Amino acid sequence: MNESNPDRYLITGGYGFIGSSLSRILLKSGHYLCNIDKLTYSSNLNAIEDLDKSEKYIFHKIDICDDKKLFSLIENFKPNKIVHLAAETHVDRSIDKPSDFIKTNVYGTYNLLNAAYKYWNSLDIKEKNMFKFCLVSTDEVYGSLASKEKAFDEESPYKPNSPYSASKAAADHLGRAWFKTYNLPVIITNTSNNFGPWQFPEKLIPLTILKCISNQKIPIYGSGEQVRDWIFVDDHSRGIISAIKYGDIGEKYNISSENELQNITVVKNICLILDRIFPRKNGNYDQLIEFVEDRPGHDQRYALNNDKIKKLNWQPQTNWLEGLETTIRWYLDHQDFLKNYSGERLGRS
Ligand code: NAD
Repeated sequence: MNESNPDRYLITGGYGFIGSSLSRILLKSGHYLCNIDKLTYSSNLNAIEDLDKSEKYIFHKIDICDDKKLFSLIENFKPNKIVHLAAETHVDRSIDKPSDFIKTNVYGTYNLLNAAYKYWNSLDIKEKNMFKFCLVSTDEVYGSLASKEKAFDEESPYKPNSPYSASKAAADHLGRAWFKTYNLPVIITNTSNNFGPWQFPEKLIPLTILKCISNQKIPIYGSGEQVRDWIFVDDHSRGIISAIKYGDIGEKYNISSENELQNITVVKNICLILDRIFPRKNGNYDQLIEFVEDRPGHDQRYALNNDKIKKLNWQPQTNWLEGLETTIRWYLDHQDFLKNYSGERLGRS
């Protein structure tokens, strides 16, 4: 459906997993879109599909750490909405090499906030009031929950445990500070584990599918009892749009489907669906499951309370097993995307 008053969205990380879902939805709704992406290993230039041919779409290959290019691009495009998704995102990589995470997630976010503020400050009052900056973050900033503890809400304290979550927590604090100190209209969204098409196959769900169709062992950290709260990626993207449209500036919104599952359940669900729609020649897929030594600092449970975002005209629309089957069918239709990846990492979520 085309918006009668299209916005001018500038998004970072638009060729990534979530950024491409958001881009597809925004372009289908008739908005203008400028995508800034460095095109790291987890991006995919095909992910916006044919929509990237729209005259309303423009792409710039830029590193968000490059302050000069960033500012001149914002000044030229004149966005009234900025959604910041670009990040280094894989926890295991953050353990191996934290410096990339500090550069992009902390310094890059600082750069973008600074450039956005300089631009916003040059606007007239009417334009200033239209402008919003949405910073997309994670539930991992809140740390880990014990099994019976209440799900995190927007008031929960930050207790990040990995270099990834610490870098994202730092970015959130910068966003808050640019609102409190400079009045930049920042909204922060924290979301749980996303699943869906176009996710780079180092994360749990696409990696499990890759292992299954390649007839290789499916590695699971520890006992597989870690709990994650899963949301279909397009539901998350629609939540971001609701937070921008109806949310209050300076506020935080948790976006989740309140769908808590143990990692082992996720893997077994994938195996069962594949057994039905893509049967293995010699047995069932769950015979490939292999438990391997856990990684340091592996959080036990994440869960997000979604009461606040639900007050903004938003509901998750995708049922877990239906969304999972849609996702698996998409990967089966895009096996080249899966197999171009050697799969040496584990599917830590
Ligand atoms: P992704 O790894 O699939 O995509 C990240 C994108 O950012 C890529 O296109 C990459 O090229 C780009 N990028 C990386 N560094 C950059 C830089 N320096 N300059 C410009 N572009 C750069 O990640 P994703 O899963 O789509 O995550 C998007 C956002 O959502 C991230 O901020 C992440 O922390 C957050 N998030 C993701 C999940 C999830 O389950 N995937 C959950 C919670 C929060």
